[in-house]
Amino acid sequence: AQRVIPGGVNSTARATWSGWEPYPIFVASGHGAHVVDVDGNDYVDYLLGLGPMILGHRPAKVTRAVVRQIEEVGTVFALPAAAEAELARKIVAAVPSVEMVRLSNTGTEAVLYATRLARAFTGRRRIVRFEGMYHGFSDAVYWSKHPDLASAGPDEQPVPVAQGPGLPKGVEDNLLILPWNDVEALREAIRVHGHEIAAVLTEPMMCNTGCILPRPGYLEAMRELTAAAGILLIFDEVITGFRLGLAGAQGVFGITPDLSVFAKGLGGGFPVAAVGGRRDVMALVSDGTVSLAGTYTANGIAVAAANATLDELAVPGAYDRLYETSDRLRHGLAEIFARSGLPAHVVGLGPVFQVWFADGPIHSYRDAERRADQAMFRRWWLGMIERGVLFHPGAYENLFVSFAHTKADIDVTLAIAAEVVARL
Ligand code: PMP
Repeated sequence: AQRVIPGGVNSTARATWSGWEPYPIFVASGHGAHVVDVDGNDYVDYLLGLGPMILGHRPAKVTRAVVRQIEEVGTVFALPAAAEAELARKIVAAVPSVEMVRLSNTGTEAVLYATRLARAFTGRRRIVRFEGMYHGFSDAVYWSKHPDLASAGPDEQPVPVAQGPGLPKGVEDNLLILPWNDVEALREAIRVHGHEIAAVLTEPMMCNTGCILPRPGYLEAMRELTAAAGILLIFDEVITGFRLGLAGAQGVFGITPDLSVFAKGLGGGFPVAAVGGRRDVMALVSDGTVSLAGTYTANGIAVAAANATLDELAVPGAYDRLYETSDRLRHGLAEIFARSGLPAHVVGLGPVFQVWFADGPIHSYRDAERRADQAMFRRWWLGMIERGVLFHPGAYENLFVSFAHTKADIDVTLAIAAEVVARL
């Protein structure tokens, strides 16, 4: 495989994170909340394919819907289809800020759709984004840790430009990168550059570095500052959407963005994403000002999977169960860590959370860079995976709980965690 696939098989995990060594798991299959490797080892899975398997692996109703679509309907027509309209209606019904919606295949594309819409709507080119957030692999919004930025002292001014190695020339001019949870930094950027800023692109909570929650009033200030300057507010709810609730993080925090991006949980494991929001912004697609299209956009398989997934998520009480399971795990872990006296933190909200080893609370990306005890995290991860609990080896990554995780899965996980923590 190494000869034909750079980085080897097991795509993202092997290619991106050498952290999986010495456990490069070669998957044989998945079932519910479990993954089985080619040697027959069974793992309780909190990686969940990086989040999309919100119903667990091989969810029966999604599988049946997809098989029916393939056998009885077809997959790609490049024509309007009733099932796409049905999905759009379901998303609009689930998320109050979304008046109209367009589909895409990945979160990356949906982010690009959103920034394209914002640029067309405002006639401005710059996008504000934040340190430590990930919005997909496109060069247009990519950001990687610049050594100078990562080692910047707490008193140094934020560097308001993208400096990722490999960024095409000119891209950084289109971005402004700010520290998150910092109202003054945003106010200042808008004061100086507001007339050039099309959108502020943010996760409503910082999922890809530290699971940091917005400070009280931060999202509200962000909403006010952007609205006053004619800047669109884009929520990237690729992780939080359809996970924190049917209406995502915006439903939980009570903030109305102009545009939102959804992916992962929406498709129950199939590649489908969505951008949606204000009718007057989305109308730019209706009148042809903006084109959002792709050959596989709204293909039948993805749409059938998403329709079936949303039906499952809309069952009354579904999210109560997801929160109950997640809380059982979070609180159980927090208790184990507290008893051990280790500098460990369980941070996040409901079914979006992470485990941290750090000598104090993590408030920002820079805190995370300075404080995270990567060596301790590594020992924790190795202990857990050796005993059959699978989650991401990166210290900034979420533990994903699914609707398929049972109390028994959680209790097994907690028993293993207690054993591992006792040896740390
Ligand atoms: N935004 C966020 C917040 C993400 O976490 C991700 C993927 N991890 C993306 C965008 C990109 O989504 P995709 O991988 O589907 O392109």
